[in-house]
Amino acid sequence: MKTIGLIGGMSWESSLEYYRVMNEAVKARLGGLHSARILMNSVDFAPLRELMLAGEWDRVGETLGRAARTLELAGAELMVIGTNTMHKVASQVEAAVNAPLVHIADATAEVARARGFSRVALLGTIFTMEDDFYTGRLRRHGFEVLVPEAEDRRLVDRVIFDELCRGAFLDGSRAEYVRIIEDLAGRGAEAVILGCTEIGLLVGPDDTDVPTLDTCRIHAEKVVDMALG
Ligand code: GLU
Repeated sequence: MKTIGLIGGMSWESSLEYYRVMNEAVKARLGGLHSARILMNSVDFAPLRELMLAGEWDRVGETLGRAARTLELAGAELMVIGTNTMHKVASQVEAAVNAPLVHIADATAEVARARGFSRVALLGTIFTMEDDFYTGRLRRHGFEVLVPEAEDRRLVDRVIFDELCRGAFLDGSRAEYVRIIEDLAGRGAEAVILGCTEIGLLVGPDDTDVPTLDTCRIHAEKVVDMALG
């Protein structure tokens, strides 16, 4: 079993999920007392959020690159950025280490394709929904990608940073997310990618009949597949 290096803390609410899902996946594959070999470098999210808002992505990339190097020096053999948005600096992280980076959008595309979807919608932060690093990557995998209208994109982003990343999971926000998910299905989306690692803590299959793809779970399970070879 390879040692997984998780850059976490963005937010730590979802890092907990990564830890749980990776261990559950190893247990499902190997049984008994087996558990995942994981090193986590959990960063302080607040200064990174300031850099994101200031558009200082190079400095975000440097910080996460350093976090990845520390993990590699400690023995990590697979690199995982435990957030969708921070894949905006995936190439800087990849350049900082020799260990392969398991890209969250590639893992999600693989599952979406296996489930037969070709037209997907994406919920996430403003950066994830509006910048090319994520939607472009999905399109290069052959998907048609829909995102919510501008006002709903702002709502989805605000809930992520003001609520989900602070551990608040509110019924009113869940209802708004369900409304947006069903609106996207009405526009032709066959499935909705929960493209922020905390969204799966708010909404899921119990809340809507529209198929959802939880990127946190998908990413964590893919990493374990690779760790076990
Ligand atoms: N965890 C979120 C994501 O998957 C948002 C936090 C961040 O901006 O990294 O995008």
